[in-house]
Amino acid sequence: MVVDPPGTLSPSRRNALDPAPSTTYIRQDETMKISSTKFHSRPRRSPRRWGLTLLVLATFSASTALAAKPIQVLTTIGMLGDVAAEVAGECAAVEAMMGPGVDPHLYRASAGDVTKLARADLILYAGLGLEGRLSDVLANFSRRKPTVAVAELAVPATELRYVGTSTIDPHVWMDVALWRGTAAVIRDALLTHPDIDPECAAGITARTSAYVEQLAVLDAWVREAVASIPERQRVLVTAHDAFQYFGSAYGLEVVGIQGISTDAEAAVADIRRVAEVVAQREVPAIFVESTINQRTVDAVIDAVRRRGASVTLGGQLYSDAMGADRTPDGTYIGMLVRNVTNVVAALGGAVPALPRGLSEWEGRWQ
Ligand SMILES: [Zn+2]
Repeated sequence: MVVDPPGTLSPSRRNALDPAPSTTYIRQDETMKISSTKFHSRPRRSPRRWGLTLLVLATFSASTALAAKPIQVLTTIGMLGDVAAEVAGECAAVEAMMGPGVDPHLYRASAGDVTKLARADLILYAGLGLEGRLSDVLANFSRRKPTVAVAELAVPATELRYVGTSTIDPHVWMDVALWRGTAAVIRDALLTHPDIDPECAAGITARTSAYVEQLAVLDAWVREAVASIPERQRVLVTAHDAFQYFGSAYGLEVVGIQGISTDAEAAVADIRRVAEVVAQREVPAIFVESTINQRTVDAVIDAVRRRGASVTLGGQLYSDAMGADRTPDGTYIGMLVRNVTNVVAALGGAVPALPRGLSEWEGRWQ
């Protein structure tokens, strides 16, 4: 077994002990006060729409103004928070409990999280067993307020992958076409929420359609990018088994050093098995993940080199959490673009330019 050196903690254990950093998605007017970044910016209301709003406020009572307050949405993983922010626009204030580098498999709710859950109007989690250690607290809140297992509802049962016979692989965001379904689930959760401003309905529906369209473009781009890797080298070796959906959707063989969850540390036999594959197939690079300790990947590199083969570190992939807030990597689309760019470049492919359907995103990232 791989053992922590004395006095150190693996990132996953740190996550379990420390108060977890959280990610806040802020409406444009607030964003502009904090930073000039256009990240997470929302289209402003048109003057005509403002005029209409003012007319409504003037005509009806002050309670209309109260009803127009954005609802508070709390998500578990950042990928859900990002989709929710895209779909909701200014109609919701979206926050994700788990920030960059946080491992959802091991995450336990802190006292602060319980307060946030209690204050939220709508709770969105992935389900499919991803947030295993939050299941009790989520079940508890689901009796009191709208609490939606978004990925569980979005992904058809026939598309799910299993580990063994009964454990579902929860990493569905790695297949863009599957993750696309989360936007409609979140749209419906917002539209049916008792506290949503009725004026928000058209905007939420329009933003969902636009975002779903962008994800279709992203899906096609990922496919084209991966297809450029020489066939023999289409092998993705990563620290834990988060990329099976990615591999199956886009045509890569995926070899995880650890299992599907990060609960069990990689054993010596796993390291030997993976090193064997890498040496035999002459895989040029293997990858570390932002939420996983790098040691096991380093151990594989050492084992490959002892077999006389060469392999390099292909860089960091985002598996179970996105990158830093208000950076391209801190969005779902940016996370996928970064991963695909790293994988395709390191495995000998050619990364295609982003298509026109994603040019809005390139604009945000400049
Ligand atoms: Zn995972």
